[in-house]
Amino acid sequence: MSTEMQKYIDEAEQALLHTYNRYQVVFDRGEGVYLYDTDGKRYLDFVSGIAVFALGYRNEAYNGALKAQIDKIIHTSNYYYNMPAIEAAKKLKEISGMDRVFFTNSGAEAVEGAIKTARKYAYLKDGKTDHEIIAMNHSFHGRTMGALSVTGNPHYREAFEPMIGNIRFADLNDFDSVMAQVTDKTCAILFETVQGEGGIYPATEEFMRKVRVLCDERDILMILDEIQCGMGRTGTMFAWERYGVRPDVMAVAKALGCGVPVGAFLMTEKVGANSLVAGDHGTTYGGNPLACAAVSKVIDLFQEQDVLSNVKRVGAYLEKQLDGIAAEFSCVEARRGVGLMQGIVLDRPVGGIITEAMERGLVLINAGTSIIRFVPPLVITEEHVDEMISILRKSLQACEA
Ligand SMILES: *Cc1c(COP(=O)(O)O)cnc(C)c1O
Repeated sequence: MSTEMQKYIDEAEQALLHTYNRYQVVFDRGEGVYLYDTDGKRYLDFVSGIAVFALGYRNEAYNGALKAQIDKIIHTSNYYYNMPAIEAAKKLKEISGMDRVFFTNSGAEAVEGAIKTARKYAYLKDGKTDHEIIAMNHSFHGRTMGALSVTGNPHYREAFEPMIGNIRFADLNDFDSVMAQVTDKTCAILFETVQGEGGIYPATEEFMRKVRVLCDERDILMILDEIQCGMGRTGTMFAWERYGVRPDVMAVAKALGCGVPVGAFLMTEKVGANSLVAGDHGTTYGGNPLACAAVSKVIDLFQEQDVLSNVKRVGAYLEKQLDGIAAEFSCVEARRGVGLMQGIVLDRPVGGIITEAMERGLVLINAGTSIIRFVPPLVITEEHVDEMISILRKSLQACEA
């Protein structure tokens, strides 16, 4: 590292609150699926800002749409209509089959909105305020108090207790554990269709179907967090499409704006007509013209570039190559994932391997202490996978030695 970059890092540590143990690199710019640091060193990016920058960096059509919107209008209030929000909401309805959209600034806020929706829906039925939500162990839904309350990792929650209350935890893919938490106060069952931070655990089809039936029978809302696994990452626009069931409410963010901070919670007409009304919820920035111009263009580009086909093809290839790595290295215990959301499970902490890869020009990220996660831009090719595998192999060899 140059003394110049070291100076930037020292400055960062003087100014920023230390809430991340950051990798020792200052990124400067991006080009396609590559990042460059301030020394000009190139890195293949298999993180994409944690499943955000799906279309690659410096995508001309995307950048152009944002520049045009900046020169028109960046922000107005949600007390008025604006064209980008209208366009984005229409397109989001179309690709999701959901009926109502509320734009937020982040994933956590989309989860907050989903929680408020569920509580209001139940409140309108019986006028009570003691409803419960079932969430999953090892889940991750964000860092705000509501989202934290449904995050199934006690370590994240402990210092910030008390949580919002009336949250019960069950295990993903263990339907009996969900049944054990159901009471007549249950208003929602919330989970990630594919758990991300918790270690890349896809929900099983049996679990999805049983939860759907249970929710239908008892008028409980099925809320899916598609913030990381949605927007094409698993080869369908939303991960739940693979299971033939539809949620009542869903949260999206991350790749939704491909880098412009934006999220959304969506719901069916039935939920929309029986939950939040004027005055119940709002946001200053959420769904502003700049953010929605990004959403609108992202959805167009997904279609024009047939991103889903690419994810299916390259995702299958990535899966095969990672299975090869798992067979080759005794420290790799398993591979899990769907499409371009993959993880390999190691018998040791992965921090050293990720640092090794970084030195060799590959950006990777962990999920928990012992899992390396692969969430590259959705426009990567087989050649990029080969390049990644070759660096990964050397990094694993260096750490096994
Ligand atoms: C990232 C993430 C969130 C939180 O999103 P933020 O934009 O960081 O608030 C919530 N749920 C899942 C599944 C995520 O991956």
